[in-house]
Amino acid sequence: MSLRVRLTLWNTLLLAFILGLFGVLVWAVLQFTLIRQVDETLDRTVDQLLKTSVTSINSRSSEIMIELPFDAIESPGLYMQLFNIERELIGNSMTISDLETPMDATSLRGSELERNFRYVTLFGNRLRVLTTPVVVNGTHIGYLQVASSLKQIDVAQSAVLLLMSGGGFVAILLSIIFSSLTVQRALRPLETVTSTALQITRADDLSMRIDHQGSYDDEIGRLVTSFNDVLGRLERLFYSQKRFLTDISHELRTPLTAIRGNVDLLRRIGEGDPESLDAIQSETERLTRLAGDLLTLAEAETGSLPMAFQKVELDTLLLDVYRDARVLAGTKVAVKLGEEDQAMVWGDPDRIKQVLLNLISNAIKYTPHGGTVTLGLKNMKDWGRVTVTDTGDGIPIEEIPHIFDRFYRVDKSRTRRSRAGGSGLGLSIVKWLVEAHEGRIDVTSQPNKGSTFTVWLPIMSAEQHKQQNTVEKRSIRLPLEEPVPVN
Ligand code: ADP
Repeated sequence: MSLRVRLTLWNTLLLAFILGLFGVLVWAVLQFTLIRQVDETLDRTVDQLLKTSVTSINSRSSEIMIELPFDAIESPGLYMQLFNIERELIGNSMTISDLETPMDATSLRGSELERNFRYVTLFGNRLRVLTTPVVVNGTHIGYLQVASSLKQIDVAQSAVLLLMSGGGFVAILLSIIFSSLTVQRALRPLETVTSTALQITRADDLSMRIDHQGSYDDEIGRLVTSFNDVLGRLERLFYSQKRFLTDISHELRTPLTAIRGNVDLLRRIGEGDPESLDAIQSETERLTRLAGDLLTLAEAETGSLPMAFQKVELDTLLLDVYRDARVLAGTKVAVKLGEEDQAMVWGDPDRIKQVLLNLISNAIKYTPHGGTVTLGLKNMKDWGRVTVTDTGDGIPIEEIPHIFDRFYRVDKSRTRRSRAGGSGLGLSIVKWLVEAHEGRIDVTSQPNKGSTFTVWLPIMSAEQHKQQNTVEKRSIRLPLEEPVPVN
């Protein structure tokens, strides 16, 4: 059953229920007030009859005789019967002269010294009958039954019933038509949502969005906004996956081709060719680095990259990194330590170290033999500023905004040719890790003069100082890339 039919049905059922309840109430109130009026009239008639009655005593039997002035108050629709103590009919109004039995035999049979009202049906007519004992000077001498026809009330009630059921029927009919129309109108945007969703599925085009004509503040508007947001996110995810796959296949192909070429060469030339062995080794190292970077990215993208935040003494960590850097640089470039302040930050020491080593290995990679790489740390009050400066290739100014993108390399031939060529993932991971520490990274560079990468990390707050020796576990998710169409 469609939502439209269901909503219409519920509306109509509710209206029918309210109308029914209202009808029963009106009916009951009407019945109650009209019958009360009839009962009061019957009561008054009895009082009047008894007040104007004429009593006499039979001298022989000393029986009390009573005469009631039926003719005086007789009117159509009013019936009166008088019975003696043996419940035998001894008088009646002309309106009921044909009847020799009591109008209400049941009440007469059981009647004690109190008035009693009952409904009876006589000659197809509904009557309200009042039975009352007749007492003269304290002696119970008989019974009186006064009845009123309910014909007019019944007619009035039938008319009300007809009016209410007719009106109710029309109201329900109108309600079905109007609710069906309004529900259809209200649900129309949902149909647009559905058809757009279907179109997106059929055309496989995640760039489509739902065009909503109405307000964005109501339920439908909010649904459309959420749906469009979901589409946006899906689109970004989809493009980022697609781009990732394309890039990764390129990245894997290059070292694998190099390895295969060198293995072929080894086969031809003989086992001992040191150049081929070196090439194989460096390509394998590159593949290993790529696999490591990919793992970090994959963990970050699924939000499962664990980080253990704690107090980190940046100066100590920098010394540590400096030692590693010297090993990494070997004899190629000189690694120096510049200014070294003390600075305390709240972060994951392993990840901060990963950031700095990544920057240093780039600096070493892109600095020719004999160059210098300098590390520095300055406490800038709210920020700890770490700098990695080299005297290397530098980066053209127009390339700087892109170097933090995934798989971006400035001069592709330059890095690929180089044995140390990277994957283009390093800086994107660095930037993301720095941002996960609520810090930022920027770069200044001059081609052929060198580059300086500056990492800003927030100095530990007073609150973080309080939790000195605790380790705060966090799982951080990588933000999705904006869609960039892949060719
Ligand atoms: P890769 O693994 O290729 O080094 P990165 O993401 O680490 O990838 O760096 C992206 C690009 O930025 C590199 O290809 C390189 O061209 C440029 N780059 C990074 N660091 C430096 C640097 N210190 N000097 C010159 N160019 C750099």
